[in-house]
Amino acid sequence: MLSIVSTPIGNLGDITLRAIETLKNCSAIVCEDTRVTGNLLKQLHIEKKPLTSITSYSSGHHLEETIERLKRGEHLALTSDAGTPGISDPGYALVSRARAEGIGIEVVPGPAAFLAGLSASGLPIHHFVYLGFLPLKKGRKTLLASLENEERTIVFYESVHRIEKTLQELAEALQGQPDRPVVIARELTKMHEEVISTTVAGLPDIAASVMKKGEFVIVIGAR
Ligand code: SAM
Repeated sequence: MLSIVSTPIGNLGDITLRAIETLKNCSAIVCEDTRVTGNLLKQLHIEKKPLTSITSYSSGHHLEETIERLKRGEHLALTSDAGTPGISDPGYALVSRARAEGIGIEVVPGPAAFLAGLSASGLPIHHFVYLGFLPLKKGRKTLLASLENEERTIVFYESVHRIEKTLQELAEALQGQPDRPVVIARELTKMHEEVISTTVAGLPDIAASVMKKGEFVIVIGAR
């Protein structure tokens, strides 16, 4: 069986009881960075167990090896460094192959940064579109321009390295809608959690002043 296990996005207290049980009971864990997951097990006082990094799956060879282990009846857990596997993280290919092979899959849901950002935003979230990380080059301009006509709330991820540039580009792309609300959520569930509500017109100032540290979720209200 394959258990897809969500883990905290910064606050260990957000681990679920089911996640702890599953990580205790599985025979091995397919994770992202073995050091990060090893550290999580340590903090949860779960005994060491074999960890394989899913980033080595690019070869295809390791993926098939894992599928064979699952077919032989092993109970494996899939985690990522933080949050929900497959959400802007590796995991999709394994789940897809396991499903195609008819392997038993269970999901152990938990935190995801975009959900935390949406619920903290105070913006209407009955309908929303999740964009993951914006493309770095190809398609970036077109995507930014298309946001002008999006009628649902938009949520996406940004790293500390690009936050200033992205906020500036957003301000340019949406300059015809200066009152459109934007929320920048930083370091959610962590000690320096910060949720800044602004508008498109306020973005250039925020871009210049926002703390250039940590992890970011950006939420844009519907047009
Ligand atoms: N799988 C994760 C999830 O379920 O949210 C997302 C992994 S993605 C590689 C990492 C990005 O998620 C970061 O660059 C940041 O944009 C966002 N993120 C993760 N943790 C966050 C947090 N505590 N506060 C704000 N954003 C966070």
